[in-house]
Amino acid sequence: MPDQMTPKERMKALGEGRPIDRIPHGFGLGDAAARVTGIKVSEYHLDAKSQIEANVAAYRRYGLDGLGAFAILQNVFGAETRYPDYSTPMVVQTAALEGDDLKRDYIGEPRKNPHLRVFWDVVDGLLGSPVSDEVPVSVFMEGPYTLAGRVIGVDKLLKKSLRDPEYVIAVLDKVSEAQIAVVNALEGSGVGFGIMDPVSSGDLISHDFYLKFSKPYEKRLFDAMIRVSGQKPMIHICGDSSKLWRDAVDVGAGVFSVDNRMDLELVKETIGGDIAVSGNVKPSESMLFGSPEDVRADLRECFRKAWDSPAGYVPGFGCGLPIDTPAENLEALFDELRVVGRFPLDPERFS
Ligand SMILES: [Zn+2]
Repeated sequence: MPDQMTPKERMKALGEGRPIDRIPHGFGLGDAAARVTGIKVSEYHLDAKSQIEANVAAYRRYGLDGLGAFAILQNVFGAETRYPDYSTPMVVQTAALEGDDLKRDYIGEPRKNPHLRVFWDVVDGLLGSPVSDEVPVSVFMEGPYTLAGRVIGVDKLLKKSLRDPEYVIAVLDKVSEAQIAVVNALEGSGVGFGIMDPVSSGDLISHDFYLKFSKPYEKRLFDAMIRVSGQKPMIHICGDSSKLWRDAVDVGAGVFSVDNRMDLELVKETIGGDIAVSGNVKPSESMLFGSPEDVRADLRECFRKAWDSPAGYVPGFGCGLPIDTPAENLEALFDELRVVGRFPLDPERFS
């Protein structure tokens, strides 16, 4: 059955305690949206009009509950990013950010920063698109510690975190200043926010490092995001995030999106009473390499584990969706979502 409500109608009704057609979800295609209109991933990133068209087409085809613009911020600091035709952008040259560099005002007037031209065009284009009265727009960026890693290199960041913490704090002050300037420039636009913070993962740093370098800056960023949007942001952390779930509640996250390596049921038991939990359909095993039936079974398992999470369950991917995900698997996912996610939720449908 097709959706009976637009995403905005659904969220409004949910907020007012009125009936809704189906569960709101957090599935986003990311770079895989390029496939919907058949453009190169490089074109998706370098041409705002193409990115907007791909996002609107993805919304229409699959019934996404939000449109997103991703702020690539490392270039602002002089890092160089390459945009391959058929894979995700990669940093090919980091920035030194030493000595007097740390006193420079890199971001300036965020709306006029030449490195953010495509980003602002995408944000404005999505907010002005033919579907903007139906579907909300969110702005995503990386967490401050992850962005610091993109700018100076993750190896250097980790080494310096151990040997020269003052330097790392100075870098974090810089990147966080730019992030907050971008957030503040979105005041009044109506966008929501989310962050991806892979370098804060327990796979890469100790909890002590997280508390010292990452959490205080996540908190500052979230304070700005909440002030500007009036909503608590989503946070996604890759891999092992088990030690960080409670911290996410502290910093003001509204949704914790966990990697598919984490057990959704355990996340629910730990923080489900405080914030919504999201995940964790497997991007590789199910979406990229699985059959449509594997995708459906994976989604049903996620529902079994988390559907009754007290502060809410947001169906979503366990990490970024691979660009080569077959369209038939996406069709199966959204089709199954409309069956198992129909309101009121009924465990019989996903048992
Ligand atoms: Zn991830």
